[in-house]
Amino acid sequence: MPVLCKTGCGKNAVLKRPKTGDVLCKDCFFWAFETEIHYTIIKGNLFKSGDAVAVAASGGKDSTVLAHVLKTLNERYDYGLNLMLLSIDEGITGYRDDSLETVKRNRDDYEMSLKILSYKDLYGWTMDEIVEQIGRKNNCTFCGVFRRQALDRGAAMLNVKCIATGHNADDIAETVLMNILRGDIARLKRCTAISTGSEGTIPRVKPLKYTYEKEIVMYAHYKKLVYFSTECIFAPNAYRGHARALLKDLEKIRPSCIMDIIYSGETMAVKEDVSLPSQRTCSRCKFVSSQEVCKACVLLEGLNKGLPKLGIGKSSKAKRMLDEYHAKQQMSIDELNKEFQANNCIAKGKTCRSGGCKSNGLISNDCQGNKNKNEHLNEKANEMLTVYLLPDDECIVNGISPTDNDQENFEEIACEGSCGGGSISIAF
Ligand code: SF4
Repeated sequence: MPVLCKTGCGKNAVLKRPKTGDVLCKDCFFWAFETEIHYTIIKGNLFKSGDAVAVAASGGKDSTVLAHVLKTLNERYDYGLNLMLLSIDEGITGYRDDSLETVKRNRDDYEMSLKILSYKDLYGWTMDEIVEQIGRKNNCTFCGVFRRQALDRGAAMLNVKCIATGHNADDIAETVLMNILRGDIARLKRCTAISTGSEGTIPRVKPLKYTYEKEIVMYAHYKKLVYFSTECIFAPNAYRGHARALLKDLEKIRPSCIMDIIYSGETMAVKEDVSLPSQRTCSRCKFVSSQEVCKACVLLEGLNKGLPKLGIGKSSKAKRMLDEYHAKQQMSIDELNKEFQANNCIAKGKTCRSGGCKSNGLISNDCQGNKNKNEHLNEKANEMLTVYLLPDDECIVNGISPTDNDQENFEEIACEGSCGGGSISIAF
């Protein structure tokens, strides 16, 4: 016998809401789902009339539902927002190329402009190439750090007031659990904040903060939204997976636990003497950082110098590695110069044949002219450097040590890449 919708609308119920247990018809579910997001936006004061808002779009269920609901609410409640889609192409063959096709479909369906930025254009590396260098252990650290900055760059290009991301209630509850399990209470405030970003940065807002993942899937299903659901081929089996499994078990017994965990994270007191990193501008790329050089620039320097583990772990280690790299490089230069002088391979007392460096026939760091000699030099320096690479087990949870107090301000969040599974450690 059919069950009637709890609202008394007279229609048959088709679902039981995971969040409240209410049995509802399709239309009443849509209404409840959208209205809750509307209240979240209004209560959190997320937008102002006339704002340009970039929706971080991966083609996955969360960002697809976010784009759809924001468009619906913008029209229904006359928010006055100029919504646009912003996508990042990490360069993951067989995953991102397919999901971007979904985003293009969203662009057409929702009549929003779309901006796509690629890692290749921004950093000179695709994730496929990075994984070739670093293997599959710390790939998400690179991906997360680069994506975060890529979104900032895209938002700056689009001149938007804020970036809306598809983080849902389950993602946030998992992050709270992980921070508690790691004893990282200082991060709770930031990871539960509905809006993040300090002065001079483009804020990120989470309109789906209180929206259950299961309801997002149901909404997309009943609305017949087109989204991409394949997991990233580089998705790791990370710590977040355990927190997720724990949360799902708890949710079966007590569905309200997701909201309760978020509430606990929001209200848990942070000791006065817990210092959080202050934010400033990276001296190289000029984007936001809590260090003089941002994590993205450190990681990129490591890739470009053939030291892919540079930047994985503490930044003090990265500094040490770089100092050693430069010291060893100088030693190699000195050795090679001695070798050349002994063999008379470059005429003593004459200007470098490569021209331009004026180093009297000796190799200098500044010499740009003699490609072969520099390649020889780099080979030698790199050989010596392998001794100084950090062992993998010095890194905890995708390379981020929880005791890394002097570091970038890391926040462990769910992968924004629509894989739904990955766990990334990112800096901002
Ligand atoms: Fe990037 Fe997410 Fe894939 Fe990791 S799981 S490589 S963060 S898209």
